[in-house]
Amino acid sequence: MSDTKLCHRCEETKSMAEFHRDRSKADDRHTLCKTCKEVAQKKWRIANDRSAYQKQYRADNREELLEGKAFWSSELNKQVKIMDALTEEMEEAA
Ligand SMILES: [Zn+2]
Repeated sequence: MSDTKLCHRCEETKSMAEFHRDRSKADDRHTLCKTCKEVAQKKWRIANDRSAYQKQYRADNREELLEGKAFWSSELNKQVKIMDALTEEMEEAA
């Protein structure tokens, strides 16, 4: 078996040590190198943190926000689109 692998994200050929193990894959390694995987996970965490923050913000400011409902539903739509894009990216990375 080859001891190098092509990363699907940065398209660099790196040593197997640069890829996390993934038993679901034929060669036991992720399709993304560790560096690219970390970037993808970081993006994912930031997006999750932001939605958790918005949830808390809405809970804390319920009265005011009832008036600004139209504004928030448009913000929510934006958030959903961002999450969809990120989910797609994570599925690609998995
Ligand atoms: Zn990479």
